[in-house]
Amino acid sequence: MSTIVFIDTRGKKIPKAATEAVTYAHQLSGGPVTAVTFGDATGLEALGAYGAGKVVVARGVNTVDGQQLTKLVVDVASDQDAKNVVCMHDATGRSVAPRVAARLKAGHVAGAIALPEGDLIKRNVFSGKARSWVKVSSPVRVISLMPNSIAPEQGERTATVEEYSGDLGEPRIALKEVRKAGEGIPLPEAEIVVSAGRGMKGPENWGPIEELARLLGAATACSRPVADMHWRPHHEHVGQTGIAIRPNCYIAIGISGAIQHLAGVNQSKVIAVINKDPEAPFFKAADYGIVGDAFEVLPKLIEAAKKLNAEH
Ligand SMILES: Cc1cc2nc3c(=O)[nH]c(=O)nc-3n(C[C@H](O)[C@H](O)[C@H](O)COP(=O)(O)OP(=O)(O)OC[C@H]3O[C@@H](n4cnc5c(N)ncnc54)[C@H](O)[C@@H]3O)c2cc1C
Repeated sequence: MSTIVFIDTRGKKIPKAATEAVTYAHQLSGGPVTAVTFGDATGLEALGAYGAGKVVVARGVNTVDGQQLTKLVVDVASDQDAKNVVCMHDATGRSVAPRVAARLKAGHVAGAIALPEGDLIKRNVFSGKARSWVKVSSPVRVISLMPNSIAPEQGERTATVEEYSGDLGEPRIALKEVRKAGEGIPLPEAEIVVSAGRGMKGPENWGPIEELARLLGAATACSRPVADMHWRPHHEHVGQTGIAIRPNCYIAIGISGAIQHLAGVNQSKVIAVINKDPEAPFFKAADYGIVGDAFEVLPKLIEAAKKLNAEH
């Protein structure tokens, strides 16, 4: 069964979510897949390590026009008679996958979190508070994969790279300006996230949070009131109305664990909570918990992280 995977490789390096999507497509098909991408990224041969036999790239295309990208994916899917089209469930994938599904008359599973079990594909619903298993009855399936749902493969293979030779037409929207929201590891890409809430009392107390994050190679996040009070920038706000993340480890410091916060973080593989209130709701969702004052616990964690880094 032919499978293609559409990934956005616009940045300096191939994003982790792209390597996950290629791995997923490879495991889904049981053999090498065709990866489809665009832009001027180099080193696309490396996608072979994750299961791509071939990469079709639309060089010189750096568009934000979902219609152009849809044409690219549909052209390659039609050329390969693809029965599965896998996308990343990121901003680009979310714009392209439903359009591709419409053009290919395919069923679309948005935000899959696992390989199919028989015919059924698992996905999150109600902001991650429940799971549903969906069956696609059309001959072609479009599946967009949530980040951090599966571990990327690491083989020895390399992929061949081919240039897309079709015509994507003129873009109907143009990118005029990019304002970067912040430095450091982007939250959706982070494997470890150090997050803090109103328990930190004020923005002047974020030094130890940032230091712990730096020592662990983590991104920083925060609860909504912290962003609303401008203690931290809004792009760090996680939860139902913020960013939904699925890191390998989420460390929550001085956050109560309200349902709206949990909705954005409860898919994390491991959750560690530090809170001085033993009755804080977050402990019910935690794998590890420390009942204690953040201002006493944080220096100890920082010391432990420094020791760990010195040993490795
Ligand atoms: C429609 C709607 C959408 C929402 N969306 C979101 C969302 O997307 N994300 C989000 O986060 N919230 C969201 N909220 C708000 C949410 O309901 C909570 O109010 C919010 O998450 C609480 O933030 P907090 O835990 O930082 O603060 P608090 O609820 O004030 O909790 C602070 C915690 O810190 C602990 N603490 C205090 N001092 C210390 C100390 N020295 N050491 C250790 N622990 C300490 C306290 O015991 C407490 O548990 C939403 C609310 C609504 C109504």
